Amino acid sequence: MPRAAIIGSGPNGLSAAVTLARAGVEVTVYEALDTIGGACSTAEITLPGFRHDLGASIFPMGVASPFFNSLPLEQFGLRWVQPDAAMAHPLDDGTAVILEHDPAATAANLDPADSAAYARLMQPFIRQWPELFSEAFGPLLHVPKHPLLLARFGTDGALPVSVLARSRFRGARARALLAGNASHAVLPLSHPFTSAIALVFGAAAHTTGWPAAAGGAQSISIALAAYLESLGGKIVTGHRVGSLAELNGNFDLVLCDVAPRQLVELAGDLLPAAHIHQLKRFRPGPGAFKIDWALSESIPWKARECLRAATVHVGGTLEEITAAESAPWKGRASQQPFVLVTQPSLFDPTRAPEGRHVAWGYCHVPNGFDEDMQDAIESQIERFAPGFRDCILARRISTPAQLEAWNPNLIGGDVSGGAITPSQLLFRPTIWQYRTPLKGLYLCSASTPPGGGVHGMCGYYAAKTALQHISPSLTPGH
Ligand SMILES: Cc1cc2nc3c(=O)[nH]c(=O)nc-3n(C[C@H](O)[C@H](O)[C@H](O)COP(=O)(O)OP(=O)(O)OC[C@H]3O[C@@H](n4cnc5c(N)ncnc54)[C@H](O)[C@@H]3O)c2cc1C
Repeated sequence: MPRAAIIGSGPNGLSAAVTLARAGVEVTVYEALDTIGGACSTAEITLPGFRHDLGASIFPMGVASPFFNSLPLEQFGLRWVQPDAAMAHPLDDGTAVILEHDPAATAANLDPADSAAYARLMQPFIRQWPELFSEAFGPLLHVPKHPLLLARFGTDGALPVSVLARSRFRGARARALLAGNASHAVLPLSHPFTSAIALVFGAAAHTTGWPAAAGGAQSISIALAAYLESLGGKIVTGHRVGSLAELNGNFDLVLCDVAPRQLVELAGDLLPAAHIHQLKRFRPGPGAFKIDWALSESIPWKARECLRAATVHVGGTLEEITAAESAPWKGRASQQPFVLVTQPSLFDPTRAPEGRHVAWGYCHVPNGFDEDMQDAIESQIERFAPGFRDCILARRISTPAQLEAWNPNLIGGDVSGGAITPSQLLFRPTIWQYRTPLKGLYLCSASTPPGGGVHGMCGYYAAKTALQHISPSLTPGH
């Protein structure tokens, strides 16, 4: 039986481990921390009984992931919790644009002149969401199975979202909606392909939804780990692998759920100099400055319907969000940042003592930024939810450096496994993608295609590539 070591137990490390174990490989996962899950984990970090997601909290790509959906994760405790609406985007007039599950209800929520245009823009991608997901959430360089759909997606998606929003919509509401969704790309909104992210997040909202995981993000990691163990896989926590040499050549395959720079450290001079150079050149994206709050009550949004949504996009108009999201690329942090907010205790009573709430918010800042953004973040929320600060019982701040100290994959606070620039999207992190020039050594983290987010597809494809090299007969179909 072939033997594999996985370095790192984030969602991609665990997904790689499960894929290999299902093909009959003997798998051992090594995790540096005492708990599994990487940026998909949950802990009490403010007050007793308040369970905060340390990284990811809302899972549009997780619930849609064909890989997760091919596993019996429900049997191992995973339960998706679908909020009433995917997203709310409050505006200064006291209303909010709501990204409803129903596209028609969303369209009705926009300026009347934009309703039909919204339906026209989104319908093709809603209709063929599973096909779109499978084309977009794998290695980008492939022969498309749905060329017409991809051509349509490419035409709209390749545009900077600032262009798409202005060319398709007349009103501020639809433009703001698109800008907020595109901000998940962590790019200036004037960049090509930012529309693709907006369209993917929009199509997900109208199909598979933006759910939380009952019990918190940790439930996803626990379900993956329990399934892995049921297949005979082993997980060793509290074991940081410092170098590949430590593994003593005991394994046929080593899959690394780490950032490219750490792969260089792990492999040392085993890798050719040219490959080391390419890995070092892979550029992290902007950082995140995150705050977790324990709250005495739910956030007092002026637009009360924000309480129906999985995520709240706080940042105002297209123009404001454009300015906020371009600042980190100019080495600055906006003092009116775009803030992503989630409050999962609204939909899951296990997350906080009765009547109390947990929430997190983060904004994008330059990579490694070391200035305090607490006041800027909380003032933005206060702008749309007066009295917010009075609800705060406790807070825990995570600066970009603190995020990286906790999880070394989050280089300079980058939550996406690398900047999603067009070249890094195609060659992620090098033209070799999951493979390395070293026989048996693979990268399987969010720095490989399709990139950041909890969906397990990077781990799945990396393991599938590795299996092809051991023996084609071991490769799982999909
Ligand atoms: C603040 C924040 C918010 C986010 N929000 C969302 C969200 O709402 N929805 C969503 O889908 N995604 C979100 N993401 C992104 C998502 O969490 C990541 O893309 C995803 O976790 C990446 O998975 P991964 O397995 O590649 O790596 P990680 O989750 O980063 O896990 C890597 C693991 O490897 C371990 N490790 C590293 N080096 C070693 C070593 N040498 N030896 C042993 N172990 C090692 C680390 O300790 C860690 O446990 C968020 C991320 C952050 C940080």
